[in-house]
Amino acid sequence: TEELFSRRQAHLAKPQKNYYEVPPQIERGWKEHMFDVEGRAYLDMVNNVTILGHGHPRLAEAIGEQWLRLNTNSRFHYAALSEFCERLAALAPDGLDRVFLVNSGSEANDLAIRLAGAHTGARNMLCLREAYHGWSVASDAVSTSIADNPQALATRPDWVHAVASPNTYRGEFRGPDSAGDYLTAMAPVLQSIDAGGQGLAGFIAESVYGNAGGISLPEGYLSEAYAQVRARGGVCIADEVQVGYGRLGHHFWGFQQQGVVPDIITIAKGMGNGHPLGAVITTQAIAGSLEKEGYFFSSSGGSPVSCVAGMTVLDVMVDEKLQDNARDVGDHLKSRLAALIDKHPIAGAVHGMGLYLGLEFVRDRTTLEPATQETAAICNRLLELGVIMQPTGDHLNVLKIKPPLCLTTESADFFADMLEKVLSEGW
Ligand code: PMP
Repeated sequence: TEELFSRRQAHLAKPQKNYYEVPPQIERGWKEHMFDVEGRAYLDMVNNVTILGHGHPRLAEAIGEQWLRLNTNSRFHYAALSEFCERLAALAPDGLDRVFLVNSGSEANDLAIRLAGAHTGARNMLCLREAYHGWSVASDAVSTSIADNPQALATRPDWVHAVASPNTYRGEFRGPDSAGDYLTAMAPVLQSIDAGGQGLAGFIAESVYGNAGGISLPEGYLSEAYAQVRARGGVCIADEVQVGYGRLGHHFWGFQQQGVVPDIITIAKGMGNGHPLGAVITTQAIAGSLEKEGYFFSSSGGSPVSCVAGMTVLDVMVDEKLQDNARDVGDHLKSRLAALIDKHPIAGAVHGMGLYLGLEFVRDRTTLEPATQETAAICNRLLELGVIMQPTGDHLNVLKIKPPLCLTTESADFFADMLEKVLSEGW
């Protein structure tokens, strides 16, 4: 394993994030578990891509069968493309019925930002601090998370305008009723965009704050922010790459939790269960405006194999009731995590819903000093106990709990038990 890892280090281009100093060599997965080459099982509590679980036979068979029959691109006409676009449009709110198929979340957000520009004729984008939207040029430009890039805030291009992270736990304003304060703080940014005279292309945000640890935005935040953006002619992009598509259990989309309807939805990750798949869903008017810039074409986006993968994921989600499972097992797990707060001072808060949860560690519950090193050590100790878990947030002090949606109550309890054991070892 170590020799193989040094070969990886020799040729895999840097910077590339490694999650453990010498990670276990994982060569097999089944449902919410992964197995290393020595046969040791790990409970995978972070994989928000493999929503059906690892090694799903139905998906493997459907993809294999389609590969044998045909794989080409969307310049040709085949049933899977028509059917998948139709199904995605049916999942979106009324009026959002045009679909672009791409291969990743970065591509989806990049295209969404281009669409905003093409539709409005403006370039300025509003985004949130503590956000991650991808690695491509435009999606990286609106990514402000200092955990991913310590220079992020100092190096954004001039068309990017980041406003305060509406983090109701440790942000500038706190509590579920802080929307008004965050919107007041947004006003000068909007005024300076107005004064610049170049207009506002749009606003991009995760509609439940996944990168900050699954924190719900303050009540009413998105509806007023969307109104401000639309009043200036801008479009509103909901990045549903991690929080959407059933993971929240109580809602299929994150924006439903805020009671809003975006103009553009971006999805990826779980929609292909690991097969590279992403999509932008928007209105006919916004989609059509890209024509000013020529045709849209992606060589693999919307291929027969990709469409079959996407539809099989949707079928399995329905047949195995995975959104309901995310709600029920997620609610149970959240209550187990909430119980840790009463016993362990380091456990400051539990965020999120369904199977997108965050457990935030602090050194002091009044100052909220982030327990960053402790969080890394807790994750390492969890690995020893057979649980894959990683930190998120600007201070890397929040456990990002986003397992496959097939997680059983038994596995959720195993995770909570192991966490309790680690916390009882003293922090
Ligand atoms: N948006 C969000 C909210 C994400 O979490 C990610 C990936 N972590 C992306 C976009 C980018 O997706 P991808 O890695 O598929 O390009």
